Amino acid sequence: MPDKKTAIVTGGARGIGASIAQRLAADGRRVAIIDLHEADTATTVEAIQASGGDAIGIGADVSDSGAVETAVERVSEELGAPTVLVNNAGIIRDNLLFKMSEDDWEAVMNVHLRGAFLMSRAVQAHQVQAGWGRIVNLSSTSALGNRGQANYSAAKAGLQGFTKTLAIELGKFGVTANAIAPGFINTEMARQTAQRLGVSFEDFLTDVAKEIPVGRPGVPDDIAAAAAFFTSDEASFVSGQVLYVAGGPRD
Ligand code: NAP
Repeated sequence: MPDKKTAIVTGGARGIGASIAQRLAADGRRVAIIDLHEADTATTVEAIQASGGDAIGIGADVSDSGAVETAVERVSEELGAPTVLVNNAGIIRDNLLFKMSEDDWEAVMNVHLRGAFLMSRAVQAHQVQAGWGRIVNLSSTSALGNRGQANYSAAKAGLQGFTKTLAIELGKFGVTANAIAPGFINTEMARQTAQRLGVSFEDFLTDVAKEIPVGRPGVPDDIAAAAAFFTSDEASFVSGQVLYVAGGPRD
């Protein structure tokens, strides 16, 4: 029987990643949270442990290949071979194209695309050996285009192509790959957007809710529920899909 127990969630110190980490732990996984600074993972790790789960926190930059290799090795030694991977770590560096710096372009590409590539490459070795695995990549409705996000929307659209290719290459090893494309989710990242637009976060939330068919902004647990499905054993025939979790339809 393959070991299906150990999961890695990148960017799990807060926001959507923290919620996914807690949900996977509640579903019986041992969870390694990889975030930039190990100290920042303590709150999520302690919340999981307090609920009787198993979790560790590791500080690593997902866009640094050496740090990724070391982190995945540490997970394997301390928790067992990782067979579930959620590529969630992300940043925004929004600006209109004519004002966007090369640094802002590269920073976003590096964390989202290079990060998901390096993490997936390191973890697939364990998944292929186990003959079972689940990869979930965090895309975004911004993949369909969003003013001020040329870098982020390109990276999130790129992640959808990356996901489909992983599904094609890894399917024969019992590994599925899917993407979740959230709409507006109430996290620190959303707060940064309100700041950039120069509006109070409360007004921003009210305005956003008016545009969402279900009439409310999303919360991290909405995304964790989708991640729980994609990483479940039952989802073994669902691969290469992009699920928009946005409170309404998206094309
Ligand atoms: P968040 O609150 O900003 O959390 C992101 C986490 O990723 C932070 O803990 C951050 O660490 C970490 N991180 C950033 N760069 C990293 C790196 N190089 N290596 C390791 N960890 C890194 O973001 P969120 O709103 O939860 O978003 C999570 C994911 O969902 C992202 O991929 C985002 O693009 C996507 N998403 C979010 C929304 C939304 O409305 N919130 C919508 C669509 C998609 P630091 O705190 O140290 O920076």
